[in-house]
Amino acid sequence: MDHIATSRMSARTLIIGAGQAGLQLAVSLRELGDTAPITVVGGESRPPYQRPPLSKAFLSGKAVEHELALRGADYYAANDITLICGEWIETITLEDAAAGAGEAVTRSGRTLAFDRLAFTVGGTPRRMRVNGAELAGIHYLRTLDDAVALKSSLDEASRVAVVGGGFVGLEIAAAATASGKDVTVLEAQDRLMARAVAPEMSRFYAEAHQRRGTHIVLDAAVSGFRGTDRVRGVELADGRVIDADVVVVGIGLIPHTELAASLGLAGDRGVDVDAFGRTRIPGIVAAGDCAVSSHPIHGPVRLESVPNAIAQAKAAAAALMGHEPGSTAVPWFWSDQADLKLQMAGLTLGYDQVVVRGDPDSECFSALYYRDGQLISIESVNAARDYMAARRILEMGGNIPPAAAGDTGIPLKAHLTR
Ligand SMILES: Cc1cc2nc3c(=O)[nH]c(=O)nc-3n(C[C@H](O)[C@H](O)[C@H](O)COP(=O)(O)OP(=O)(O)OC[C@H]3O[C@@H](n4cnc5c(N)ncnc54)[C@H](O)[C@@H]3O)c2cc1C
Repeated sequence: MDHIATSRMSARTLIIGAGQAGLQLAVSLRELGDTAPITVVGGESRPPYQRPPLSKAFLSGKAVEHELALRGADYYAANDITLICGEWIETITLEDAAAGAGEAVTRSGRTLAFDRLAFTVGGTPRRMRVNGAELAGIHYLRTLDDAVALKSSLDEASRVAVVGGGFVGLEIAAAATASGKDVTVLEAQDRLMARAVAPEMSRFYAEAHQRRGTHIVLDAAVSGFRGTDRVRGVELADGRVIDADVVVVGIGLIPHTELAASLGLAGDRGVDVDAFGRTRIPGIVAAGDCAVSSHPIHGPVRLESVPNAIAQAKAAAAALMGHEPGSTAVPWFWSDQADLKLQMAGLTLGYDQVVVRGDPDSECFSALYYRDGQLISIESVNAARDYMAARRILEMGGNIPPAAAGDTGIPLKAHLTR
């Protein structure tokens, strides 16, 4: 994929998707000196905002809507970025299948011409397809509109069921429990956050949530929802019924692939890009939750995180500007559940050894994961110093010898120089 020779330096850029990645791409293009027109089109009615607080500070009333904006209203005009909100791009036609120039048409019939194109289209929550799934009181959380509706429903509720024990579900459960609701998390697998963390961490989190009063049901196969006018309970395949006035479903994200697929650039898993956000067509890039990129150790991965959206968008902007690709970033992530700050760096996949540093009962500890004696990831709970040092070591391609990693008398940053 050699795009460097073919990218045009003063070309109109159309960015589809006005979220974290789309805005970052526009910001980075300007920072890199692009003076040509940039248009960012977003399907939502609001300018780009932060999603992470939706399941945390916003839901618990500690942040309000206007505090979530990623940039002030004057940023766009000041940086000559045309932001079009509330428009959905429905079709794209390329002038030539081998180059990134063409036209996009929105649902309302507006045509936007471009010389370079970016997909930063994110995804949509995976829906439940069981009896009663359309009842009022069943919520999904992706957008600020979703969060406003969920918050108002939760204010009226006393019993809450959360379907899905991933990050978003557990954050919502923690916020609802803290506000005095009777909360049950229903997870289909035999452990929490199974897609992202190791079993050791899943176990810790199940116990920590239970200590705070959240009920956790693992191996819970949801077979339907009870209720006539609105939801009254969740039915499990084993016959149990969990009473609930409000249900929140957080069972994953389906990336928006239709537009990129129409150009042959996406499969079911997402928009295919290299480590620098480049698709196989020069002048067309993708970044954020919609993009599947190749990880040097783990192969094709699609990551759903703010740090990934930012890093990929920066790399994609550099690629559009014809810059030499930089080094790939070490993935990192955080999740705030109650007073537990989980921070992770690297991907916890394919490890053969775990070293626990600190005492999980103190709710301040880290787990370091190794493959063949080489550190590949860290998951820290309320242990920011360990996390920062290990992330830095991973970024530098260094190591923390497993035999020394558990010794809390030696700060992990001592291994930075080795
Ligand atoms: C509740 C919640 C909590 C989260 N918490 C964390 C956290 O703690 N830490 C973390 O790192 N990450 C967290 N995330 C994930 C993080 O928010 C996402 O990874 C990030 O927002 C992805 O940005 P994006 O730009 O790829 O996608 P998005 O932010 O989803 O933006 C994509 C935009 O594209 C628009 N769009 C799609 N198709 C079209 C089209 N055809 N035409 C026009 N517009 C279109 C969509 O409407 C959407 O606004 C959380 C996410 C949620 C929902």
